[in-house]
Amino acid sequence: MGKLDNLKPQSVFGYFEDICSIPHGSGNTKQISDYLVDFAVEHGLEHYQDASNNVIIIKEAAEGYENAAPVIIQGHIDMVCEKDAGKEIDFEKEGITPVIEGDWLRADGTTLGGDDGIAVAMALAALSDDSLQHPRLECVFTVDEEVGMFGAEAMDVSRLTAKKFLNIDSEEEGIFTVSCAGGVTAKSIIPVKRKEKEGNIYKLGISGLLGGHSGQMIDQERGNASILMGRLLYSISKDAKFRLVSLEGGQKDNAITKDCTAEIRVKDEYCAAVEKTAADFDKIVRHEFKTSDPGAEVSCVNEGVKKVSALDKESTSKVITLLVNHPQGVQRMSRDIDGLVETSLNLGILKLGEKELEASASVRSSVASEKNALTDRLTSLTEYLGGRMEFTGDYPGWEFKDDSEFRDTCVEVFTKQYGKEPVIQAIHAGLECGLFAGKIAGLDAVSIGPDMEDVHTSSERLNIPSVQRTWAFVAEVLKQSR
Ligand SMILES: [Zn+2]
Repeated sequence: MGKLDNLKPQSVFGYFEDICSIPHGSGNTKQISDYLVDFAVEHGLEHYQDASNNVIIIKEAAEGYENAAPVIIQGHIDMVCEKDAGKEIDFEKEGITPVIEGDWLRADGTTLGGDDGIAVAMALAALSDDSLQHPRLECVFTVDEEVGMFGAEAMDVSRLTAKKFLNIDSEEEGIFTVSCAGGVTAKSIIPVKRKEKEGNIYKLGISGLLGGHSGQMIDQERGNASILMGRLLYSISKDAKFRLVSLEGGQKDNAITKDCTAEIRVKDEYCAAVEKTAADFDKIVRHEFKTSDPGAEVSCVNEGVKKVSALDKESTSKVITLLVNHPQGVQRMSRDIDGLVETSLNLGILKLGEKELEASASVRSSVASEKNALTDRLTSLTEYLGGRMEFTGDYPGWEFKDDSEFRDTCVEVFTKQYGKEPVIQAIHAGLECGLFAGKIAGLDAVSIGPDMEDVHTSSERLNIPSVQRTWAFVAEVLKQSR
């Protein structure tokens, strides 16, 4: 007897409970992938499993739907594994335990994996229900969305015939996502030269900023500590000669940098100027960021006289030039969708090594040509400084489609079921839909999902009545897709 046996719709929650019992963190997807294959075999359904553990399961159209355009239902099979401090669990080998709490489903001290197990459960429920009216169903299960959408990236779509695409990986019922940004990680690498030098070492710090996700929160105009450090160093260079010794800011290219530290070597005669400029810059930062980052501050500590390996004059100047000219934040707002950031970037990782400076930025745009223009700008700057670029994790955007038959069907079904229209939104972050839009010409996609809270944390919970309504919605969309 399962814990979720009394939840309706039982087909959805029954499969969800199966999924919970199988460990399926990102990178650990073989077992859940095989579970899907077993399901397909058991139900006599056409299926494909690839080397990445992605799975496609196909069910032919129900009677009367033979001529209807096919529909893809898509979700990812990996989950983020987080747990409470003190909770003992081996995510590699153990499943998670779902707990019903009123109208909500959560897990016992861990993430629930409602993101995105509920999509997988709904797809299996649709595939297994012979009473459902539907066109040819092509269910697509991808791996490793949470760590870079690698499954969607590797997916061979040649088995798919549908253009209509329902992604169930959104977390708010009533919101239809219909466009997302594409992106790329752009790393500038500038070679530097060092020399042994003796002098006063000052440790400079920019801290107390709030940071945040560089896609969803870039429109908050929060400060980026590495960019501010560039400003501080340039200001100091106007009155004092110094050499850069160390520089470090941020750990993830998609997080707005909260802290940055630098060490500089300064001759005695310039110490007073360094201290004054840093103190002045502290006031400037506190003033400029009083609304967005009320805790922002600048520190400057004399660490005494030391012999260190410091950058030479030219390398110090190159690093400062890069930082002062590196674009940051919102570059353009959409002229089509109100309030949507169209193009942005974030300098997320800054690291000065023995021989190179590395500056990694996450570039995003829902318009491919704008993304390219921005990476060109970074390339031009970097090459001018004698450096080179490295681009990784390139994924295409999903542009808003003016005419979308599938979106119209979804809106119509929603409006009938809920008595109000859904909210149509575009987001400035990546979704797997973007990768599929890049692979399937004319993709007609909508992303939906039931209400979930605190995803990617051990407080993650999934609203049960919302799952019921969303399932009814999915079934009706299939029925109306003729
Ligand atoms: Zn997800």
